[in-house]
Amino acid sequence: MKICDLHTHTTASDGSDSPAELIRLAIDAGLSAIAVTDHDTIQGLKEAKDEAEKRGFELIPGVELSVNFKKGNMHILGYFIDENEEFFKSTLKRVQMARAERNPKILRKLKDLGISVTMDELEEISKGGQIGRPHIARVMVEKGYVKSVSDAFDRYLKRGAKAYAPKSILDPGEAIKVIKGARGIPVLAHPFSLLAKDRDELFSIVESLKKEGLMGVECYYTEHDEAFTGACLEIARALDLIVTGGSDYHGKAKPYIKLGRGKGGLRVPYSCVEALRSAL
Ligand code: AMP
Ligand code: ZN
Ligand code: FE
Ligand code: FE
Repeated sequence: MKICDLHTHTTASDGSDSPAELIRLAIDAGLSAIAVTDHDTIQGLKEAKDEAEKRGFELIPGVELSVNFKKGNMHILGYFIDENEEFFKSTLKRVQMARAERNPKILRKLKDLGISVTMDELEEISKGGQIGRPHIARVMVEKGYVKSVSDAFDRYLKRGAKAYAPKSILDPGEAIKVIKGARGIPVLAHPFSLLAKDRDELFSIVESLKKEGLMGVECYYTEHDEAFTGACLEIARALDLIVTGGSDYHGKAKPYIKLGRGKGGLRVPYSCVEALRSAL
């Protein structure tokens, strides 16, 4: 069976592999295609595209936008975006500025708690890419303040924790519209992170996103067990949405996630790529 991975991160955001390295790893892993979907940036796409072209590998350009949501986390993936579309570009710039304003706020809160993380340290670890909480967490691990990245999130960085600072971001409908405005395909990422209490609640969230223009659901995902994947597939079918899937590979930043394999059991069928292409 041909498999793919439609959700990956590079050094352009909080992954640890460069875009070109990621393409080489995807080829080594026997994947038939990958999508690069960095958080709120498309900076890594050019390098990924060049390497993919050089090696005759199929790359799907993508992005993952963080959006406002009352509970849990909502992320919207955008595939095949026209990177030169002006409104899309200016929206990304606005989101990136909000992120840049947020990082010093988090560092100040950590400092008040006796934890020193500097912008220089973050810049070194992020290798020129966009800085996010996982970079802060990694510096905290390296300096021995916490045991692990998830420990850093749990104790300091997650929403509601002591050093958390919000970033003002897009509403879901805005993100969907900006992706569609750039001729891209908006897909709900990792539905488990919405923390819906049951299938009916998940259904109604996805249904209302569809009314705003959502076109797909990431059903296959590292953190989805068989039952949850099944529920997502059923919702996608009932609402006539495209099925996609990916590992959310971050390299060393999330070492338990393997490219194209998640925690070992993930298999994203290549038919997901075909479904996206036929929606173009
Ligand atoms: P940010 O872009 O700064 O909002 O951070 C988002 C990133 O943090 C994503 O890669 C998430 O997967 C990661 N993240 C969120 N919560 C946790 C957690 N509890 N443990 C580890 N990583 C997390
Ligand atoms: Zn990430
Ligand atoms: Fe995400
Ligand atoms: Fe992601």
